[in-house]
Amino acid sequence: MRAMVAASKHVSFDELCSGLGCKDVYHPRTPSCLASVWDMNQRSMKGCIQLFASVYALQLILHRRKINREYLKHHAKNYARTVLAGNLASTFSVIFCCTSRRLLGGFYRYTVLFLPTMLSAFAVVLERREKKEIYLCSLITMTVEYVIRHLARTGRLQLTKLRMCASFMLLNTAAMYLMRCNSIEMLSGINYWPFIPPRVEKRSCKRREDSDQTDCKTSVCNHSGSCWRHVFQEATKYLLLGMAVQMLRVLLPQFRRVVVHPAEQLQNLCVLKNFSLAMFFGSYVGIYHAVVCLLSQLRGQDSEVHAVPAGFLAGSAFWFYPKLTTLLMVGTTVFQQLTKRGQALGVVPRSDFLMNCIFAFFLGAMFHCRIVDQEICHPVFVSMMNAISGGRDEECRAVYLRLRDNYQKR
Ligand SMILES: [Zn+2]
Ligand SMILES: [Zn+2]
Repeated sequence: MRAMVAASKHVSFDELCSGLGCKDVYHPRTPSCLASVWDMNQRSMKGCIQLFASVYALQLILHRRKINREYLKHHAKNYARTVLAGNLASTFSVIFCCTSRRLLGGFYRYTVLFLPTMLSAFAVVLERREKKEIYLCSLITMTVEYVIRHLARTGRLQLTKLRMCASFMLLNTAAMYLMRCNSIEMLSGINYWPFIPPRVEKRSCKRREDSDQTDCKTSVCNHSGSCWRHVFQEATKYLLLGMAVQMLRVLLPQFRRVVVHPAEQLQNLCVLKNFSLAMFFGSYVGIYHAVVCLLSQLRGQDSEVHAVPAGFLAGSAFWFYPKLTTLLMVGTTVFQQLTKRGQALGVVPRSDFLMNCIFAFFLGAMFHCRIVDQEICHPVFVSMMNAISGGRDEECRAVYLRLRDNYQKR
């Protein structure tokens, strides 16, 4: 593996592709460029319809309480927009790649993967701003993960569990504090981190409608009932959520086997490592609420600052689920919250065009990495690209590997 990587460093992409035509590199199944555009359009349409149907169906399950005729109409419209954006991006990537080859007379490192993907990624303009924000956060997380894995592979960075846990605790402290300080408007939309700390509720008195008496809030916490009950309820809720997510992740890829041998698969499921996400989520939320409640009771009032020790200690739950992606997700959340704060203060521009440009750049860069260096790319990105391009990226990668192997045999 290391030899392969070392050898690949000496082969330039331009050298590999010199003298080759479109059908040798970009569309091996269809010799004609026009036929290839049509082929990509059809395959991508099928892939996008299937991929986004499952994503939007999951959203319907999560928002089942909001479902009504109007919501379903809105949801269907958004689904169509997402499918169209994915389909246009895939189709245009072929058009841009074939056009650049004809104009430049050959394939060059950045004109075959990076530039066509970057230009076609502007199809994201069809998406709503909220969705774009989430896509961008995911792309940033996956790109940083790629860079870190690349540094770790070359020995320039050591990823130990202790280092990652300490980094998570610090980043989580910042994320919790910022989310507690930021206004409700800043937290509106889709949040990247699954846990949003409850806001500080100021003591208030409300006048009853039926009499002149007033009801004053006597509890120092922002929940009803006892603190013990609140901590236990919240921790259990997230423990069950973690369990459900991990079960789906384990069972979905082997769905057929689950149907044929359900008992055997259930036995395999009851392994301790399959409960790591549940233990992470449960203890993370439990510790956070327990610390905030304890400090509120001791000081006689709740405060945004309580998120600092609570976020730090809750971060220790990372030990149960020490994944680099989780660490980077909380890092991206800090970035997202800081950006929102900067936008509210007028320091960071709230420009849709800028967001589209950053998204397009990161997608182009990541697609390039997915083809030439798939080993350290996030598997979710690889599967998404595979679905959106209708398997076309896999063919490109196969061609790239074949060209590289032929070069090394020379
Ligand atoms: Zn072509
Ligand atoms: Zn409490």
